[in-house]
Amino acid sequence: MPLIECKDLVVRYGEIEALHGLSIAVEAGEVVTLLGGNGAGKSTTLRSISGLAKPAAGDILFEGQSILGLGPEEIVRRGIAHVPEGRRVFPGLSARENIMLGASNRKGLSKAQIQREADEMFDLFADIRPFADALGWTLSGGQQQMVAVARGLMAQPKLLLLDEPSLGLAPVIVQKVFAIIGQIRERGTTVLLVEQNARMGLSVADRGYVLETGRLVLTGNPAELWANEDIRAAYLGGH
Ligand code: ATP
Repeated sequence: MPLIECKDLVVRYGEIEALHGLSIAVEAGEVVTLLGGNGAGKSTTLRSISGLAKPAAGDILFEGQSILGLGPEEIVRRGIAHVPEGRRVFPGLSARENIMLGASNRKGLSKAQIQREADEMFDLFADIRPFADALGWTLSGGQQQMVAVARGLMAQPKLLLLDEPSLGLAPVIVQKVFAIIGQIRERGTTVLLVEQNARMGLSVADRGYVLETGRLVLTGNPAELWANEDIRAAYLGGH
């Protein structure tokens, strides 16, 4: 049984049909990357899983049970954390406070315990440790991305959804963010990742799905995807 399975998902925004019956599945322990151009439906897929977009048809099974129609908070409680595109770090809270917010789905934890866990996040995100007390608005884009991912991990998710973690970041910072994704995978957390940067996106992935205007066009492991010339030219940015 896959950890998460989307079956024949149809999502519409008014007149626009963003997903036309998409089916994908991710097994526990896998890192899977969704690739495709602008408007392919990648973000919509993540938003559907986390309860932010409401599918008009199809089903979403998490650990074999339908989560369709559940609210975003209940979905986090079941074990799915979503780090949306654009990071959304609270500007007036410190890095540590932003990270601590990620535990709000976990009942019965003391503030001291949450603080301890947030501090442990700085082992994984060592680059932002010196900025633990810095306010969100003072952090660079890369630091904000690390805070956003750390906040997602504080939910102790079984499935982490990451939307475009490399967006707007300098290449050296992108490398760091992806190194962290590699470590998250080693901890055994399942990751479904949206990434425009195909080379980076596939470098950490077990498998990829290529979407085009709301449809699945190809799936395979990274080597298989790179081997497909048409796909390489059209979606993976050439060589
Ligand atoms: P991008 O990388 O540009 O975000 P994407 O593959 O993530 O691309 P989606 O954001 O899922 O694509 O968008 C799929 C389609 O749905 C596009 O045609 C987009 O314009 C449309 N769309 C997405 N969000 C909305 C919305 N809130 N209202 C109307 N249309 C939307």
